[in-house]
Amino acid sequence: MQFETKLLSSSETDIKEAAEIIIKGGIVGMPTETVYGLAADAENADAVAEIFKAKGRPQDNPLIVHIEDIADFEKYAKNVPDMAYKLAEKFCPGPLTMVLPKRDRIPDVTSAGLDTVGIRMPSHKAALALIRTSGKAVAAPSANLSGSPSPTTAAHVMDDMRGRIPAIIDGGSCPVGVESTVISFEGNAVRILRPGFISAEELSEFAEVIIDRHITEAAESGERVLSPGMKYKHYSPKANVTIIESSGTDYVKFVNSQGGEGVYAMPFDSDEKFCEIPCIPYGDSSEEQAARLFAALRKFDELGAKQVYARCPSKEGVGLAVYNRLLRAAGFEVKVI
Ligand code: AMP
Ligand code: MG
Repeated sequence: MQFETKLLSSSETDIKEAAEIIIKGGIVGMPTETVYGLAADAENADAVAEIFKAKGRPQDNPLIVHIEDIADFEKYAKNVPDMAYKLAEKFCPGPLTMVLPKRDRIPDVTSAGLDTVGIRMPSHKAALALIRTSGKAVAAPSANLSGSPSPTTAAHVMDDMRGRIPAIIDGGSCPVGVESTVISFEGNAVRILRPGFISAEELSEFAEVIIDRHITEAAESGERVLSPGMKYKHYSPKANVTIIESSGTDYVKFVNSQGGEGVYAMPFDSDEKFCEIPCIPYGDSSEEQAARLFAALRKFDELGAKQVYARCPSKEGVGLAVYNRLLRAAGFEVKVI
């Protein structure tokens, strides 16, 4: 192990300590409203390279740059369209990442060699304080080992990153629970590259919205995708996950006919009382499901689950983000009943 991995609070003193780590080119586990991130100085190529190592992340998967002031869009991006400012006025700070042409100060390692950069202003107080105190925009992917479910508590980050990074700021559970909505601009339209808490429905009040097909379809091998992260199997517990698309009654009937060692159900809360096999429910509303999905997937690992049957979430609003993460966790295995 290279580091002790200190757990910090979000007190002013601890944020200063974390900011010092960032200034010196180190990595800090950072709470945000979406999921925990691994933060490093976005302009320091060596520091960012260490993030890729700590996570075991493929080099062609770009990082999102986190800022604490909307005015900084111009500092890291050029040709920012008016629409970006309109959206920023409504949704920033918050879980919306905008992909824009990058300025040269963003090193290639941060953007994974693309000439664009994803930028967002988080709303979590500790994240904003870390960026402000360090005086650095931070590149921050989710703080999990590559391929594992994203972390929504400091304990999850510790499980994956103990010994790999010097410190984690404990900011409690992430209220949103799924990563930010990632969009790019195409004329007057916006394209959703990754669904998140800011839904297509909300964005469509401002612009025509195109939903990229890779949100719900697997990429063919070798196919170019606009959001590189979308081609990887992701968010996966060790168990095999199968999504069951059916009514609640048929879902319960199906899981009750399964059973066996290591077989679990992942129902809605309202199904739980009818399930006769062990289960970890993940909420009823899409918002609850977003907040609890990743913790539930991690729990299956702790329990040594071999097969998980998850009830298919709604595909509307925030539900699309939940469905997209679950599809990847399931390697696109959906059984329609
Ligand atoms: P994560 O850091 O794990 O939240 O993943 C960030 C994701 O945002 C990446 O996997 C990409 O899919 C997407 N992203 C970040 N920057 C860009 C960019 N410049 N162009 C397209 N997608 C991006
Ligand atoms: Mg991630």
